[in-house]
Amino acid sequence: MLLGKGASPGITLGKALIVENETLNIEKKTIENTEIEKNKFLEAIKTSKEQLSKVRDKASKELGEEKAAIFEAHLMILEDPEMVDQTINKIENEKLNAAYAFQEIANQFIMIFEAMDNEYMKERAADIKDVSDRVLRNVLGETVVDLSMLEKSVILIANDLTPSDTATMDKEKVLGFLTNIGGKTSHTAIMARSLEIPAVVGLGDITDKVKNRDFIIFNGETGEVIISPNEEQIKKYKRLKESYENERKELEKCKGKKSVTLDGREVELVGNIGTPKDIEGLLKNDAEGVGLYRTEFIYMDRDSMPTEEEQFESYKKVLEGLRDKPVVIRTLDIGGDKKLPYLKIDEEMNPFLGYRAIRLCLDKKEIFKTQLRALLRASVYGNLKIMFPMISSLDELLAAKEILSETKKDLDTEGIAYAQNIEVGMMIEVPSAALISDLLAKHVDFFSIGTNDLIQYTTAVDRMNEKIHHLYSPFNPGVLRLIKMVIDNGHKENIWVGMCGEAAGDEKMIPILLGMGLDEFSMSASSILPARKIIRSLKVEDCKKISDKVLSMGSANEIESYLKNIL
Ligand code: PEP
Ligand code: MG
Repeated sequence: MLLGKGASPGITLGKALIVENETLNIEKKTIENTEIEKNKFLEAIKTSKEQLSKVRDKASKELGEEKAAIFEAHLMILEDPEMVDQTINKIENEKLNAAYAFQEIANQFIMIFEAMDNEYMKERAADIKDVSDRVLRNVLGETVVDLSMLEKSVILIANDLTPSDTATMDKEKVLGFLTNIGGKTSHTAIMARSLEIPAVVGLGDITDKVKNRDFIIFNGETGEVIISPNEEQIKKYKRLKESYENERKELEKCKGKKSVTLDGREVELVGNIGTPKDIEGLLKNDAEGVGLYRTEFIYMDRDSMPTEEEQFESYKKVLEGLRDKPVVIRTLDIGGDKKLPYLKIDEEMNPFLGYRAIRLCLDKKEIFKTQLRALLRASVYGNLKIMFPMISSLDELLAAKEILSETKKDLDTEGIAYAQNIEVGMMIEVPSAALISDLLAKHVDFFSIGTNDLIQYTTAVDRMNEKIHHLYSPFNPGVLRLIKMVIDNGHKENIWVGMCGEAAGDEKMIPILLGMGLDEFSMSASSILPARKIIRSLKVEDCKKISDKVLSMGSANEIESYLKNIL
């Protein structure tokens, strides 16, 4: 049995499919027999055409002509004799290996299209990149997997899944994910929870241990993975799966009920989303709103900046989808483990401590203003609250608010409408912000505590690093003290305080947070009903005693075992 980090609950049994989405590392080689390389290349083109024709036919049957047209365009790129002829010439004249020669030529084409003025042509660069990736994998003899067109239900095995993998995949056919890297708060894990697909991450070398079609069982809660299980194990996990599913059914009873404690304290139980598509999961799980919309995904899955109009459409969709329920939209939080291929940022020694989020937005004001315009314009379609990420000083907060005011003035001048009562808040995810939360609270309408980052910055533990993951805990006494301080400081200034880090949905954390007086809990879709069940079973009075008790303890382990015992 292998043990990784349980990232998204659920028991899964099924066949493995390995997804090779790592960047290809192609070596330049000088070769003698150019004939072999030429044939290898032409064979790869032929295979790619066959694959794409199949995908196109399936798309046109199942997804409609619009989607099929994308693959038709990809086929046309392969039909273009220029790219093929130039590659053949390069192999012959420079005696190069097929993969290297083709990559060079494809990159030239990509660069030419990227440099064009016309937006439509620019986007074609992405198509060429997609197609050339397929051809290269075929030259190298790797399996090419189309996640949007899976034949059978499978468990995906990957080093890590990219946002575009998760965005395009056929959810119905994906039984689960297993990845080499990542922790509970890495973005693949967060994505798995919002799609309600069971997952285990941080397995180290699962891609080497598993072969395609291996039968696998795993538990997304405990992180246990069994490759080629025996009969007895299969029986045991089938039973576990059944009881997990019964438990989920039992939770359905919490739907339509208030998130209120036994002694009458009502809190807000809302959800985290990454794309407008995720609203479906939130509504299904009876979320009372959106506590965090991570807008960076609008920027990530593409090769140029999203326009104001495109952003406006996404925000509008979410606001309309939630009707009048509150929707907290966070401004761009790029950097750290989230990069934009088209925005060149110098290599950094410590990207999580680097040029990211609000720092980047305050520096690249045009990017920030475009987003704020789109947000303001969308505000008339629902109950929008705007939130700034990664604020580490009062100056940054004031600067961000100033740009928001400027943007409002621009819209006034242009006669464009926006809601007048938009609440503006900030994330507390940097210790310096938590420590001056008394001052910051005077300038915002709410705080939302981002424990995913607050833990890593407070304890100096990289949230992506499996080796030190035992040190990464919301129960670290230093982290708990900061959380208490932020809630108290917020309340002193009469603003509400929420939490949108993963800790908000942690069963053991909920009593502590209720005891400290947290007003809003924002989490992945699948955690909402379990959280409501817990909240409805507790008394604030008891929770206060619990939070006082844990605040007097000196170690995360001691706190966790105390909580395990009493709950
Ligand atoms: C956080 O840091 O807790 C948070 C919610 O933001 P993200 O996970 O997107 O960094
Ligand atoms: Mg964060």
